[in-house]
Amino acid sequence: PTTGPTAVEGAGLDARARELDRAHVFHSWSAQGALSPMVVAGGLGSRVWDHEGRSWLDFSCQLVNVNIGHQHPKVVAAIQEQAATLATVAPSTAALVRGEAARRITERAPAGLDKVFFTNGGADAVENAIRMARLHTGRDKVVSTYRSYHGNTGAAVVATGDWRRVPNEFARGHVHVFGPYLYRSEFWATTPEEEGERALQHLRRVVESEGPSGIAAVLLETVPGTAGVLVPPPGYLAGVRALCDRHGIVMILDEVMAGFGRTGEWFALDAHDVVPDLITFAKGVNSGYVPVGGVVIGEEVAASFDERVFPGGLTYSGHPLAAASIVAALDAMAEEGIVDHARRIGTDVLGPGLAALAERHRVVGEVRGVGVFWALELVADRATREPLPAASMARAKSELLARGLLPLTADNRIHVVPPCVVTDDEVAEALEAYDAVLTLLDEE
Ligand code: PLP
Repeated sequence: PTTGPTAVEGAGLDARARELDRAHVFHSWSAQGALSPMVVAGGLGSRVWDHEGRSWLDFSCQLVNVNIGHQHPKVVAAIQEQAATLATVAPSTAALVRGEAARRITERAPAGLDKVFFTNGGADAVENAIRMARLHTGRDKVVSTYRSYHGNTGAAVVATGDWRRVPNEFARGHVHVFGPYLYRSEFWATTPEEEGERALQHLRRVVESEGPSGIAAVLLETVPGTAGVLVPPPGYLAGVRALCDRHGIVMILDEVMAGFGRTGEWFALDAHDVVPDLITFAKGVNSGYVPVGGVVIGEEVAASFDERVFPGGLTYSGHPLAAASIVAALDAMAEEGIVDHARRIGTDVLGPGLAALAERHRVVGEVRGVGVFWALELVADRATREPLPAASMARAKSELLARGLLPLTADNRIHVVPPCVVTDDEVAEALEAYDAVLTLLDEE
């Protein structure tokens, strides 16, 4: 920040933020008792800071959503202008800015996916995609993977296969399979291609055993993110597409985390030669400046609702502030070459830098990822692949924070997920911090 409070005023504001938070805010994903969240007062590009002026390089992207970086001036200005013109309007209207946002999203999607249903975030995008698939097919079951995260509402939480992460209050017609994960392959695979084939064979058997005529959808994250950045092996998604075609099953690709630059592509599916029936999106579409998500709908599913009503809707669907932020964010990403930049960073700087860390540090079991979407899987023992214990992961997190890096950790992994606009120098700075902390973990 160039101007701001003095250190003394800043300390007071930080203390006040903590006090109000403790008194009145009920936090997600947390036991409330012993919480001590960091204070974030501002940000710019890849950095955030508190009121006192302590700053961190944001290699968490908050919740892997600030793809365009913090406070991009064009997006901030577009929201301000839209607020001054038309701050809210019902979803039943034809608002120009909403149409412009939808056009920009469908232009980036594969041919034939030409309509957008807007939601308030990722989970309700998944809810509505599942509902569309069920109504379109007249079937009930949804197949997704154990290692997935699709959101924390009714059907989305059940589609999420990780029961450790979320409780199962709404299970109905959901089936889970083991998707590709070579490092911890359940069966015999030793190469990515074998693991892709293993996962496809398994999926085929589950679909046949469950009864294909009862299956509405196969729902997959194109690149499972929360579960560990599991880039699918070549051919896997095309194989799923063929299976869905054979049985009239709707293929839904969840691009909430992977979409809009994260993998160095507009959609992660662009690298996999596959066209799903529905795509869910949120996060990177406007970098979270205003809450929004949605479903991009292929023509066959869309045609199902030409004559009959789609019984879904939200008061803020296609909200003008969200739409304006999408238009500005996607235009800025195109004009500034941000998606190509993310791909280059992954290929030339971040990927090689992380691979070098894996060679130097025995605590790193595997590095995997693409673009600005990476994970370091940490192990106590490389031979047995025993995950690094929670206490060591907690230490990794606090040591990284102390070195000015805001990390994202999950289970035994450090997810390396900076904004798409991260610079070469910022990556170098982050690699230094990871290097120092991995040295501590090696010694431990
Ligand atoms: N789908 C995926 C792949 C996600 O990663 C997430 C959130 O991390 C969601 C859905 C849920 O999105 P939201 O938190 O916006 O509801």
